[in-house]
Amino acid sequence: MSPRNRFRMTMLIFVLGGLGLIGFLNELHVRNLELIALGWLIVWTFLLFQVKCPNCQKSVAYQGTVGRVSVFAGFTNASCKNCGYDLTKAYRK
Ligand SMILES: [Zn+2]
Repeated sequence: MSPRNRFRMTMLIFVLGGLGLIGFLNELHVRNLELIALGWLIVWTFLLFQVKCPNCQKSVAYQGTVGRVSVFAGFTNASCKNCGYDLTKAYRK
């Protein structure tokens, strides 16, 4: 699997898993659902940031900088914005 596909997979699991979890908890009439949703979001963001470029260890969500601020987004490019590594290439074993 390539870094880019792993990122997309994590994203998919978040959306489907999140909706399933919230729907399930809603059925059980659990309170503070918004807090659980927020917690889920934080965990997911953390997991997404664990998907890194194999070459430079920069998050694959890295989109370059605006001024001095690093920009991250919920999608990846075909190549690393930091070092140009091909993110569609599978991880080396
Ligand atoms: Zn890189």
